[in-house]
Amino acid sequence: MRTLEPGSTIGVLGGGQLGRMIALAAAQLGFKTHIFCPELDNPAQQVADQVTHAEYDDIDALSKFANAVDVVTYEFENIPVSTVETLSSKKPVFPNSRILKVSQDRLQEKMFLNDLAIDTAPFKGVSSVEEALSALEVISYPAVIKTRRFGYDGKGQAIVKRAEDVLAAWNNLTSDQNIIEGFIDFDMEISVIGVRSQDGVVKCYCPVENKHKNHILDISIAPAAIDEEIKKTAIDQATKILNTIDYVGVMTVEFFVSSHAPKLRVNEIAPRVHNSGHWTIEACPSSQFEQHVRAICGLPLGETDFKGQAQMTNLIGDDILQYEKLLAEGRANVHHYGKKEIRAGRKMGHVTRLYDHKD
Ligand code: AMP
Repeated sequence: MRTLEPGSTIGVLGGGQLGRMIALAAAQLGFKTHIFCPELDNPAQQVADQVTHAEYDDIDALSKFANAVDVVTYEFENIPVSTVETLSSKKPVFPNSRILKVSQDRLQEKMFLNDLAIDTAPFKGVSSVEEALSALEVISYPAVIKTRRFGYDGKGQAIVKRAEDVLAAWNNLTSDQNIIEGFIDFDMEISVIGVRSQDGVVKCYCPVENKHKNHILDISIAPAAIDEEIKKTAIDQATKILNTIDYVGVMTVEFFVSSHAPKLRVNEIAPRVHNSGHWTIEACPSSQFEQHVRAICGLPLGETDFKGQAQMTNLIGDDILQYEKLLAEGRANVHHYGKKEIRAGRKMGHVTRLYDHKD
C-alpha cells in the first residue's frame, strides 16, 4: 500500500469528461492533476493543474510526464498498452496493464470471463468471411459481428440475420480481426461499478439499468429493477473480476439480463470510471470519481450505499441547449463538460435527478 499525501499529483491519460470529473474529485481531496492527451482543446485540462499535449507513443513526453506525477491512471481504455508499460517502469499505474490488454480485445475479454465461470454471449473469433460463415452455423442467427478492438458506442459492429447479410456486414468492418457473438434477447442492460483498494477491499454500487439511444447511453436508472438473486450474482461477478486481476481503482462491468438461463451475461468490462456511474456524484457518500482517486492514492474507500432512486440523463448534441431550462428546475444536478462545439452524438453534459433520497 502506497499512500500519497494531499498535494501529490495524479497523472491522467486522456482529456475527456471522465478525466475532468476525476480531476474535480482529486481537487476535493487535495490532489493535483496533470492531464496527458493529444487534443489541444479538451474538457479535462480546464479543471486540471497541468497538461501535456503529446501523442501516446511519444516516449520523451511520457518520460517527462512520469517525472512530474506521483501516480498515473487513465480515463479511456484505448490507450496503447505500451504507453502504460513505459509509464509503469517509472511510476505506479492503476489499473494495471493486464486488465487493459484484456478489455481492449473482445475475444480475450470473453475468454477471460468464461475462464472465471462467468457467462457471456456465445462467441468465436474469426478472421475471414468463410470463418465467419462457419462460426455462424454453430452460433446460429441472429448474431452480431464486431471488430475485436476499438469498438465503442455501437461502432464497429453489425447484426446479421441470415447468411446473405454476412458479406456486406464484413465489408463494413474496418478490420479482419473480428468476433461473432450470438444475439442475446435481453430484457434489460445493467452495469455494476465496483472499486478495489490497494489493500484488496472491494465495494460495489447497486446495479443500474442502462437505456441506449442510437447506440449511445441515454439514461441510467439506479437502482435497476432486478431481483435480489440477479443483483447478488452481478456484484459477486464484478468482485471476482476485481480480485482475480489484483485491480486497483474503479471498474465497470456491463451485463445483459434475461428471463431465461443464463439470466446474467457479461457484455463488456471497462477498466475505468463510467458514464453509467455519474449518478453516484450526488447520490452516494463517495462518488465513483472520488473512489477512484482514493484507491489509486492508497486511501481508505468511501461508502457506496444508496437508498433512494436516481436517474442520470446524458445531454447529447443539441440536448445541451436545454442547459438553462434544466438549471431552472432547481433540483436537477446539471453538469456541463465545457465542450465548445456541439456535434450530433457528442456527449456535452449530463443531468442527475434524485427521488426519495434519504441521507
Ligand atoms: P458493445 O459495444 O459491445 O457494448 O455493444 C453496444 C450495444 O449493442 C450493447 O449495449 C447492446 O445494446 C447491443 N449488443 C451488443 N452485443 C450484443 C449481443 N451479443 N446481443 C444483443 N445485443 C448486443
